Amino acid sequence: MTISGLSRFHRRNLPEVVLGLVEKNPVKVVHYSDIHIDPLYAEGSNTKCTKPICCMPYTEGDEAGNTDSPAGPNGDHNCDVPVSLEESMYAAIKEMVPDAAFTIFTGDVIDHAVWNTSEPYNEEQITNACQMMGQNLGIVYGTAGNHETHPSNAFQPNSVGNASQWMYNLLSGLWSRWIDVEAVEEAQKLGAYSTMYPDGNLRVISLNTNMYYRGNYWLYQKSMIQDPSGQIAWLVQELDAAEKAGERVYIVGHMSIGDSNCFHDQSNYLDQVVKRYAATIAAMFFGHTHKDHFQISYSNYSDRKFSNALVTSYIGPSLTPTSGMPSFRVYDVDPVTFGVLDATTYIADMTDPAFQTTGPVWKKYYSAKEAYGALLTPPVTESRAELSAAFWHNVTDLFASNSSTFQGYIERKSRGWKPEDCTGSCVGEEICQLQGGRSESNCYEPELGVNFNKRSENRVEERDECGVSVARATFAALGVKKDMIRLLQRRVMEKGVTLRA
Ligand SMILES: [Zn+2]
Ligand SMILES: [Zn+2]
Repeated sequence: MTISGLSRFHRRNLPEVVLGLVEKNPVKVVHYSDIHIDPLYAEGSNTKCTKPICCMPYTEGDEAGNTDSPAGPNGDHNCDVPVSLEESMYAAIKEMVPDAAFTIFTGDVIDHAVWNTSEPYNEEQITNACQMMGQNLGIVYGTAGNHETHPSNAFQPNSVGNASQWMYNLLSGLWSRWIDVEAVEEAQKLGAYSTMYPDGNLRVISLNTNMYYRGNYWLYQKSMIQDPSGQIAWLVQELDAAEKAGERVYIVGHMSIGDSNCFHDQSNYLDQVVKRYAATIAAMFFGHTHKDHFQISYSNYSDRKFSNALVTSYIGPSLTPTSGMPSFRVYDVDPVTFGVLDATTYIADMTDPAFQTTGPVWKKYYSAKEAYGALLTPPVTESRAELSAAFWHNVTDLFASNSSTFQGYIERKSRGWKPEDCTGSCVGEEICQLQGGRSESNCYEPELGVNFNKRSENRVEERDECGVSVARATFAALGVKKDMIRLLQRRVMEKGVTLRA
């Protein structure tokens, strides 16, 4: 996609720097997500335990010395992140991106042992994680992951009560080193904030997307709350002020607004907001899926094409290795428009013998422009060319027509680890997800029922690796209580739902 290939609408809305009239060096922005730190990770403990997350000595047989599958010191695909892996990522970021302008952290600090959480435990973990970020990085723009609270996912809308106030007090306090005073006050009320990046014309709006997450049972009120905590109205105010002030905006959140697990109603409202302010929003950044991918918002979902592609959501891969190699991303960003010029993923390859001996070796995995730019017609290879939403739409067209490029994408999604088998109808579904900036338009059809399998091959479950593992773990914990299962079965029977073992 080149400038000349853009519609008049897009050309008119492009700042001069994108049109190549201004020369300034790009800046680097780091993005990492879903760190899921496990402070109880025990080297030598069993990696093949019977719980949803391993590397903890749950039983005598799981203890170091008693198992045939001992955990290495630096992480395992069946386990969350030991502190040594967390430290190695920060060391790699400092070494490989010493000139980073700022960092985006899209949430989820707490490990997946959801039965072990408590307010004091989560508070300590989140405090430790933020302190480590503060010691190692410059400005970090954070957001609340669904795992941050106790119990997991339970963010209470303000109109229902103040059960989440302790979480907002904690996060706003920890974030105060990176955001301005008014933003701290907003974070204390909403778990969301809007703040200016001090070295450029960029506003960062961090959204509390847990307010739209189907795993948040506080949202299941007698009648659905249209705008939980008034966050969408607040977002509109912020974007409108930004538009009037001529600012560019990054929207940061944990779960993307087109995610299959984002309620259709709120996803639709948010999508309308994105559409209205598309000229102001330079990009959006999310995590939660633990996968390396993206999503495109359009002005018309019944006719998705490059000329009506509006905004790109960059969905960052996780540090936790449960669904791929530990990763972080670096964006090359235009210093005036804050348009993303390239997105490069870095990984620590766990098959490298050094990973468990001398320590994780972090290396560049791929750059989006290098992987796809030359394959487009016309090619997008210039270092100053923006990866616009039109660019990403053209990449999805390429996926539809070129199966080896699509399979390369599938492999990168999990950073080379156990790529999913995606052929036939799966290809169209996957492309629809990438083009699904509004959740009702992402071709995902929710099914009734809960699958209790520990590690399901079901693609629907894979789409919520972060969240469904919570449901799975919660129900697995219930599963040992036969009476509870019978009760649940009775409760859901009238709805025709079967609980599978
Ligand atoms: Zn999550
Ligand atoms: Zn997660």
